[in-house]
Amino acid sequence: PLLPPPPGSEPIASPFPGAEVRRATRRPLAEPVASGITRTDGELCGQSADTCQSLQSPLPIPSELQQSRRRRRPVRPSTSDRIPPPFPWAGDHRATVRPLAELSASGITQIKGELCCRSCDAHEVVTYDLLSKFEEDVKPLYRRVQEYESDRASDSLLNPKYRDCPSCGLQRGMRPVVAQRKRDINWLFMLLDGTLGCLNMKILAYFCRRNGCHSTGARDRKLYYAFTGLCVQLMRNQE
Ligand SMILES: [Zn+2]
Repeated sequence: PLLPPPPGSEPIASPFPGAEVRRATRRPLAEPVASGITRTDGELCGQSADTCQSLQSPLPIPSELQQSRRRRRPVRPSTSDRIPPPFPWAGDHRATVRPLAELSASGITQIKGELCCRSCDAHEVVTYDLLSKFEEDVKPLYRRVQEYESDRASDSLLNPKYRDCPSCGLQRGMRPVVAQRKRDINWLFMLLDGTLGCLNMKILAYFCRRNGCHSTGARDRKLYYAFTGLCVQLMRNQE
């Protein structure tokens, strides 16, 4: 016999003729048969959940259910979202970077970015060697962060080690210059510089939204998604 529905599970519009009016349930066998429902349709797919396109465009569902799903489903980049990459190392979708393998193949080995003193406004252009900086600083941190499995940014991410200002001497005064338009943000530079933690909630939520992860929640969680998301993008096509 079926267990009674847990308290508080409210009825929903049934997504298929064979489904029950509560989430993740089906009607008893006798019921659909009595209503003349003798066949069930579904889709098979050999791809993983990350790459499968059909998972992103589910089967047709009643309009009242579609409404509530649309609100919850994260926005995923689509071809119509393409933008001119703001840097040679940026992807052609908002808030993305190109994989390391692709960058190396294109001869892009140096990543540049700008820092600015928050007291005297002195500017400094900083260049990182992509591969060595990633292997020495970013990847070990990525492995450590993954080990926690807490979906929260670690202290080193939350409290970046900013450089001292070479002009006025203000300690930890040099902050990355963050582009006015969010699509122009130099994500890869800040990842290598270890200063993603300087970004505010709005910008971190923008990254999450653009990359299909939860954009609600605390700042440390958003920062965690931005950091790990960028690492995963860089390590794509790598084993
Ligand atoms: Zn200064």
